[in-house]
Amino acid sequence: MKLKDAQTEIQQSLGYEQGMASEKGPVKPAFEPWGRYPKYDATLLPLHWQSDYPSIIRDIHHGVLPVGLGRSYGDVCLLKDGTLLPTPAMSRLISFDPETGLLTAEAGISLAQILDFAVPRGFFLPVTPGTKYVTLGGAIANDIHGKNHHVAGTFGCHVTEFELVRSDGTVLLCSPTQNPDYYAMTIGGMGLTGLIRWATLRMKPIVTRKIDYEGIQFHGIDEFLALTEASKNIEYTVSWVDCASTGKNFCRGIFMQGDHSTKRGELKASPEPKLVFPFEAPGQMLNHWTVAAFNALYFNKQMVKRKVLEMDYEPFFYPLDIALHWNRMYGKNGLLQFQYVIPWDNAREGTVAILKEIAKSGLASFLAVLKAFGDVPSPGVMSFPRPGITLALDFPIKAGRTFYVFERLADMTREFGGRLYPAKDAAMTAQQFQTFYPEWQQLSRFRDPAITSSFWERVTGESSNL
Ligand SMILES: Cc1cc2nc3c(=O)[nH]c(=O)nc-3n(C[C@H](O)[C@H](O)[C@H](O)COP(=O)(O)OP(=O)(O)OC[C@H]3O[C@@H](n4cnc5c(N)ncnc54)[C@H](O)[C@@H]3O)c2cc1C
Repeated sequence: MKLKDAQTEIQQSLGYEQGMASEKGPVKPAFEPWGRYPKYDATLLPLHWQSDYPSIIRDIHHGVLPVGLGRSYGDVCLLKDGTLLPTPAMSRLISFDPETGLLTAEAGISLAQILDFAVPRGFFLPVTPGTKYVTLGGAIANDIHGKNHHVAGTFGCHVTEFELVRSDGTVLLCSPTQNPDYYAMTIGGMGLTGLIRWATLRMKPIVTRKIDYEGIQFHGIDEFLALTEASKNIEYTVSWVDCASTGKNFCRGIFMQGDHSTKRGELKASPEPKLVFPFEAPGQMLNHWTVAAFNALYFNKQMVKRKVLEMDYEPFFYPLDIALHWNRMYGKNGLLQFQYVIPWDNAREGTVAILKEIAKSGLASFLAVLKAFGDVPSPGVMSFPRPGITLALDFPIKAGRTFYVFERLADMTREFGGRLYPAKDAAMTAQQFQTFYPEWQQLSRFRDPAITSSFWERVTGESSNL
């Protein structure tokens, strides 16, 4: 499957096709977030490079929301009974300077498309999430983080400027020095401050596709913390953690670390995914027993305490992108993702308590990731990362249980002084959100009055002023 085919496959699954212009009129299929929950009806009005956002929305009366590739897990990319403005057809590359690494592109371009262009020229993304099928605009709006947060900070740290279009026709060039308040509110502002039309990103030079990788087994939180401390100068670190085990296997995992190799090597575009998860899995496929069996196999597949190898960047950064639509594995009900960060003061105690609660619930899936965030400040007022420990995991949605466990875990996060990640959320309460993000009222003042999202309405009660 070629990149173009993969992008098309993804866009069709979201209910729109690349190149579909707004002149063709609105289309109205369901637009699912990655967690497949919640599901709301919305009108889709795709934007392209000539779209005039303010005039397009003139006749709309229930609010709008610009969206990317729907890789957020919950309702930050949804607007119930409103109009979504998908941006992936706004995907032109505008300029690239190999001297500085500065790349300017329309905001609907995907990170996969940027990599396809940049890697053969010896450049890589400064920060990347666990999937490359997200747009530049989506990466800014959620100020995403990657395995190098402890040294590179968030995605927004590398965005030198962008253009923001407001529904009243105002066009703002935003950077740390021009309209700095809009710059700081838009990075991590969940799309609420206006449409990001294009952005400039500082890419980083590489000499090969290869990563010098090391995988290290750990047993318990203290071994994880010791490995974190020892790897401060390694660019990428992340751990898989077994959330299902108790007793002597409690908090065992694999600490994965790597740097871009400095040995010159191949620099070509990636082969594209050949697999598509083919069917809706039955709801009971993921249960405590299948997850525990997977975790034991995954932990032991490494066989040795420490494994060193040179590996391609694709399986290192994007192991899950190998199969498109792998979220179908959770069946029609979908999944809730739970991701917290707890500041260092309570990070150890909070992580142990929450991992115990998760193991007790018997609900966790095998996709559980533990990482230490660093102290590089985020440029976004509403950005999620803080120095401390972050844990992310999926819960298959099971009637009557999953939401109850989620609420308990969110309350524990609050008690330990932590916060949850809106990009991954579909269930935190208004009270929880407003405690996690006291800056939300500031964002409310910068919100484009035409724009809102189901997430924003759920956690603040504010809707569009259209
Ligand atoms: C497998 C997987 C792994 C992931 N790993 C990570 C990770 O490691 N780190 C991390 O931080 N996140 C991670 N994520 C979450 C993902 O990176 C974010 O949710 C990202 O924002 C999704 O981008 P998108 O283009 O799909 O945008 P969408 O999900 O469609 O929208 C996200 C937000 O961006 C806004 N938006 C999109 N385009 C524009 C625009 N042009 N102008 C203004 N606002 C806009 C939307 O309004 C919405 O609020 C992961 C997701 C998946 C599915």
